Amino acid sequence: MNVAVIGTGYVGLVTGVVLSEIGHNVICIDIDEKKVEMMKQGKSPIYEPGLEEMLVRNISKKRLSFTTKHKEAFEKSEIVFIAVGTPQSESGAADLKFIKQAAKDIAQHVVYDTVVVVKSTVPVGTNDIVENIIQEELKAPVRVEVVSNPEFLREGHAIHDTFHGDRIVIGSDVKKPGDKIEALFTPLNLPIVRTNRRSAEMIKYAANAFLAVKISYINQIANLCEKLDADVNAVAEGIGMDNRIGRAFLSAGLGYGGSCFPKDTEALAFLARENNINLNIVDAAIKANSEQHEIFIQKVIDKLGGNVEAKTFAILGLAFKPNTDDLREAPALKIIEKLLSLGANVKVYDPIVQHLDGFQPGELEHCQSIEECMDNVDATLLVTEWDEFIENDWKELKKYPNQPLLFDGRNILSIDKLVKFGWQVEGIGQAQKRQSVKVI
Ligand code: NAD
Repeated sequence: MNVAVIGTGYVGLVTGVVLSEIGHNVICIDIDEKKVEMMKQGKSPIYEPGLEEMLVRNISKKRLSFTTKHKEAFEKSEIVFIAVGTPQSESGAADLKFIKQAAKDIAQHVVYDTVVVVKSTVPVGTNDIVENIIQEELKAPVRVEVVSNPEFLREGHAIHDTFHGDRIVIGSDVKKPGDKIEALFTPLNLPIVRTNRRSAEMIKYAANAFLAVKISYINQIANLCEKLDADVNAVAEGIGMDNRIGRAFLSAGLGYGGSCFPKDTEALAFLARENNINLNIVDAAIKANSEQHEIFIQKVIDKLGGNVEAKTFAILGLAFKPNTDDLREAPALKIIEKLLSLGANVKVYDPIVQHLDGFQPGELEHCQSIEECMDNVDATLLVTEWDEFIENDWKELKKYPNQPLLFDGRNILSIDKLVKFGWQVEGIGQAQKRQSVKVI
């Protein structure tokens, strides 16, 4: 099938590349000329494992192309995906300006009967808005129908998740356009949930908010464990083995970040307020998340005698999670800002992120290696659970800092091993007298 994808961010580019990989002819359009130029030359503008190889392969097979021109994008397309951003607005609601613009662009330029697929995460009722804009502004005498198809990929695993996702959700109020999108995805051979558009829109928000609640829940349990000398890792294993609960998203840490959970929980909470529905379980998850990194910083301050002024810190990891270069709402940024505001010196290192916007030149030191970052620091803060940090030789690394004081904000290092090497390690919600969890 001939497919156009509007927006080549994490979702649009991965969707376009995977659809071309399974045999469709795909043209991706973005208003960002620099991005489009890079992609035309076979370079991915985002870091995502496996993406660039697949992009190059499909460009060379002539199934994948890129443009900045809407006319060119839509001149052959029978299916158009909308995968533009839906950022948070002042009120907490999702800002739909990019979505509305994409709908106008479609109305101006489509020349065939088209199924428009809204892949962006959008509040319930947005597919109706998209349809209305297109119907009002449509230039050609063609039929355009709108289908909801929310995306569930995880950054850092986006290609894998698109091929091996748990389900594909297709929301259509009319059967035929839904069937067409089902046929488009048939080669992926994944379970498909067919429903109406509003339910599909809600599935996405309800899923993300559920996971956010789960993260905030285990983080608050971790804080209580720490006070009561229980161990949250053991608790997570013990409760996660219950099939009704499940182990995923029960790893205590610094709270969620990224481009989805923070804005999607806010957007869902806004939707509930607007409709006079009490959804305070989500409000509580948001609040708990905003407090989690503050609790961590307070622990750091307390361990350093109540004052971090002129102390030097190594921040290991900047991205909001491993295997991505995405810094949106990354806990590392909040931690860095707080430490700088307290007069501390900050050195940072991330295996992929090489540049940080929003800081004055010289305000922090961006290092090229973990060793350089930890050299002469008073404490090391592990913020993102990159494999490089897990697999490093911590016996060897001990020779770099002024003192072997490590705060593991992701509970990923073996504390017992590190203690043997002479490190003093503080995790999240870990008991003083540690005992490894045994499942027999
Ligand atoms: P992004 O910000 O990385 O990319 C959006 C792209 O759209 C940008 O490149 C921008 O230039 C382009 N764009 C904006 N308006 C355009 C227009 N009129 N025509 C052409 N291009 C246009 O966004 P993203 O992270 O890929 O997210 C897209 C949507 O998918 C959001 O609604 C997000 O909530 C949702 N989502 C994201 C993820 C994720 O992990 N990033 C996962 C699931 C769902």
